[in-house]
Amino acid sequence: MDNNIAERLNSAYRQIAEIKQKNQAVRVDAQLIAVSKTKPVPLIKEVYLAGQRLFGENYVQELVEKSAELANLVDLEWHFIGPIQSNKTRDIARIAAVVHSVDRLKIAERLSAQRPVDLPSLKILIQVNISHEASKAGVLPEDVPALAAQIAVLPNLQLAGLMAIPAPAVDQDNSQAFAQMQSLSMKLQQQFPQATALSMGMSDDWQQALTFGATMIRLGTAIFGARDTQPHE
Ligand SMILES: *Cc1c(COP(=O)(O)O)cnc(C)c1O
Repeated sequence: MDNNIAERLNSAYRQIAEIKQKNQAVRVDAQLIAVSKTKPVPLIKEVYLAGQRLFGENYVQELVEKSAELANLVDLEWHFIGPIQSNKTRDIARIAAVVHSVDRLKIAERLSAQRPVDLPSLKILIQVNISHEASKAGVLPEDVPALAAQIAVLPNLQLAGLMAIPAPAVDQDNSQAFAQMQSLSMKLQQQFPQATALSMGMSDDWQQALTFGATMIRLGTAIFGARDTQPHE
């Protein structure tokens, strides 16, 4: 048992509440996604028992195995946050409630076609390459409106918002990227009022992300501790 896990989780929720209190821009509906990639099922169970319900995974194989082992925890919600290969969409469509990492129409079309019709619409976030990094996942900011319009008309999906992983800033300051995402998100909502989600902020920068209107922060290390094993795919 790792008693620190519940401690770290509670501390993160306390800090979120404090930041909310101090800062008008922080959205009252800000959610914490516990990123459990490479972490074993017993640890995930511990975090669940400490009250956490939203979990993020990067690798389809881990998502499939862990969701099967934890199937009895019916209110546990899986968020898929990793790169998506088109031959892996079926499992994501079956298991996830939210997909944070959609950056092309073909993936969205497959998720739409493969989403079981007895499940609620799969929530889709468009991943934005906000730092214009070569060979990084995500669409460029200027391409968001076109992809959003294409996704919005697909059945079994709900266009829910945007996600970004800013390039590591030399001075640990991601405020520029976060501000750009906040403005992109507001523009998107003019066209699609229901697309309010803004997924940004990880263990090193989540406090700052919240002050720029993040509605979902994705915390791995800050909750589970350092990752020592290599993920498998
Ligand atoms: C691994 C990962 C995280 C969590 O990273 P930490 O720095 O450990 O909090 C969040 N988002 C994505 C997309 C990731 O791949």
